[in-house]
Amino acid sequence: METFDIAIIGAGAAGLTAAAFAARDGWRVTVVESMTAGGQVSNVDAIDNYPGLPAGTPGYELGPLLQEQAAEAGAEFVLDTVSRVDGDGDGYLLALSEGHLRARCVIVAAGSTKRRLGVPGEGTLWGRGVSQCASCDGPLFRGLRACVVGGGDSALQEALHLSRHASRVTIVHRGASFRAQHALVAKLQQADNIDVRFNTTVEEIMGDASVTGARLRDTATGVDQVLDAEGVFVFIGLMPNTAFLGPLADLDGQGRISVDAHMRTSRPGILAAGDIRSDSAAMLAASAGDGVTAARSATAYLRRRAS
Ligand code: NAP
Repeated sequence: METFDIAIIGAGAAGLTAAAFAARDGWRVTVVESMTAGGQVSNVDAIDNYPGLPAGTPGYELGPLLQEQAAEAGAEFVLDTVSRVDGDGDGYLLALSEGHLRARCVIVAAGSTKRRLGVPGEGTLWGRGVSQCASCDGPLFRGLRACVVGGGDSALQEALHLSRHASRVTIVHRGASFRAQHALVAKLQQADNIDVRFNTTVEEIMGDASVTGARLRDTATGVDQVLDAEGVFVFIGLMPNTAFLGPLADLDGQGRISVDAHMRTSRPGILAAGDIRSDSAAMLAASAGDGVTAARSATAYLRRRAS
């Protein structure tokens, strides 16, 4: 079994930045990721709020660049899923689908999974009109009608992307106003094929072979109405991917890993970075910053133990 100084779980902006900085500090670093490099941003067609990139950049380009930088610094990569982390002497044992690896220090940067609505029709019509990725599936809706659920940055960003393909996009939001950043709300107001239903919930996604519409409820009047649409895109927030940590992680009220300002958890040698950790700004730039802090803390921890 291979032993690393630092194992990083997750190859999003936080994990890859941590990998680059930790490897530059001279540690043997491995990054374990079950999907592609970049994490959530891989599916974002245009990132326009990362510092120093005024023209923006596609997420699918930024992820590989972050990985390249970490690899050039000396980080290694494993394409696998971590199913469990256990204490192992003075380090930790990570269970993978293909064996185990051992590390003296672990940085958890496993990110989050998009939450689902849990209404009738969502599961059976998944992939047949129900989606959580406008940049992947948007072109399939050329000239068709789409419904986007949610009122945060993801819902507005994805609705704007969809509006380039769909004939009409209806945003359905349970609240009376958006929580999304002003820049996205301002762009929305300029799109002439996007309309918004505030104070409205989705009660059911309709269709047999594929989506034909959504049953909406006006929360003020309680009246239901069917919105005809061929697609329903769900962006109602994120769930941190912490299940594999079991009792190793102390979680906050939102299910995120509790950390101090140095990204240290309550377990010596386990750090957390990115939107999986408590009080994360859940922005790409902030996640990269977390990665730097976690790498610095890992270095301090390993040096302390060696002395
Ligand atoms: P979010 O900010 O948590 O917003 C989730 C939205 O879904 C909220 O409007 C919420 O309504 C609504 N919602 C939650 N549960 C619901 C339910 N059961 N039924 C209906 N609606 C529900 O999630 P997000 O938009 O995915 O963003 C996650 C994080 O990533 C945020 O910190 C965001 O800033 C960041 N992000 C940034 C960018 C960017 O910088 N361009 C892009 C995407 C995401 P209420 O408002 O009523 O609570």
